[in-house]
Amino acid sequence: MVDADQTYVIVGGGLAGAKAAETLRAEGFTGRVILICDERDHPYERPPLSKGYLLGKEERDSVFVHEPAWYARNDIELHLGQTVDAIDRAAKTVRFGDDGTLVHYDKLLLATGAEPRRLDIPGTDLAGVHHLRRLAHADRLKGVLAALGRDNGHIVIAGAGWIGLEVAAAAREYGAEVTVVEPEPTPLHGVLGPELGNVFAELHREHGVRFRFGVRLTEIVGQDGMVLAARTDDGDEHPAHDVLAAIGVAPRVGLAEAAGLELADRAQGGGIVVDARLRTSDPDIHAAGDVASFPHELFGTRLRVEHWANALNGGPAAARAMLGREVTYDRVPYFFSDQYDVGMEYSGWAPPGSYDEVVIRGDAGKRHFIAFWLKEGRVLAGMNVNVWDVTDAIQRLIREQRVVDPEALADPAVALESLSA
Ligand SMILES: Cc1cc2nc3c(=O)[nH]c(=O)nc-3n(C[C@H](O)[C@H](O)[C@H](O)COP(=O)(O)OP(=O)(O)OC[C@H]3O[C@@H](n4cnc5c(N)ncnc54)[C@H](O)[C@@H]3O)c2cc1C
Repeated sequence: MVDADQTYVIVGGGLAGAKAAETLRAEGFTGRVILICDERDHPYERPPLSKGYLLGKEERDSVFVHEPAWYARNDIELHLGQTVDAIDRAAKTVRFGDDGTLVHYDKLLLATGAEPRRLDIPGTDLAGVHHLRRLAHADRLKGVLAALGRDNGHIVIAGAGWIGLEVAAAAREYGAEVTVVEPEPTPLHGVLGPELGNVFAELHREHGVRFRFGVRLTEIVGQDGMVLAARTDDGDEHPAHDVLAAIGVAPRVGLAEAAGLELADRAQGGGIVVDARLRTSDPDIHAAGDVASFPHELFGTRLRVEHWANALNGGPAAARAMLGREVTYDRVPYFFSDQYDVGMEYSGWAPPGSYDEVVIRGDAGKRHFIAFWLKEGRVLAGMNVNVWDVTDAIQRLIREQRVVDPEALADPAVALESLSA
């Protein structure tokens, strides 16, 4: 191949970056592959950090994307614990590390992911206020939850999104007292809407979680660096020894912005604008994973997807595009979650306001069902809860955009496959 003298640089060693490196080699790229990440750990997968790993049921070794020796074996030049702080698009270099090392790129992939939003309230810097994004955060939180469980301690979780709820489940399994504070009227409101959010509220209440909906945290009260309580804007004070801020993430666009790359509007979820080939406004720079805002023809909008499958598939798609292969990144968004004995998968995209009907197939009360979000009779999204091996059928319905009979959709006796072409 003529690419032996080419250098491809990947910034960000999360799942998207690591999978892109793997794909470059799998596709036969023989040039230099340089992967730079500000974390000290080898690239790892984050979902276990709020589930099995947090619960102490999964070993540390199980979270890594590749075993450490894989990188040398595949001639991937790994620079861990090093931050890329500038891109010079004219010179085609990136600068990284304390000594400002410059490295030339022929193609560059930005897989910088996202970072947790911080609570902008008094007390947010107290030692007992936590975030969960990194392995080190999970290690710390694991110790905190175990201690709270031992001592009947109390954690207040700000945010009833996926991470807030998964940590609530883990905290209850450790035996900690849990209060979840959420400004919206139901958990997961922005993803599931009010109809289905209540299924998760019930699940957690049955396991002893207290919810405070429709209120916000206004202050974390502390003494000598320790958390004592958390206050909400209705004037209530909630006992707390620790607080988890699980109020969402922001895409890490600083580097792209400083380099003058086009960014998406905040109203559209922000992120680095890419085309369907995951190419940014600079044709030699691609972006993938949580940080990328890509056009999705099926949903008629730009999407920035903060989920595992998008990093798993987007990194390789970007790598193939960097190599000049034909790529159209149009996967149906997919994610999963596990809480207590409930597992779910969600395919599609149907935020509140985008659908006009919710159809349930099965028994939502028993948490054994599939929910479909429809617009004018067409399926926009589907979520299977404790029902398995239906993702392909659900995604086919979403892709085909055919008008389906809601009664047939709701009837478990009608095979889902029979509703698509
Ligand atoms: C606790 C937790 C649980 C999750 N559970 C689920 C789940 O159950 N299901 C699901 O679908 N999704 C889940 N997710 C989301 C999923 O993990 C993310 O979508 C995925 O990690 C995104 O991968 P990424 O490679 O795009 O970004 P990241 O994983 O964020 O990786 C980006 C990396 O780049 C580094 N970086 C950023 N800027 C620079 C720079 N300038 N220089 C050097 N390095 C830099 C970052 O430190 C980071 O290591 C979970 C996330 C978390 C945090």
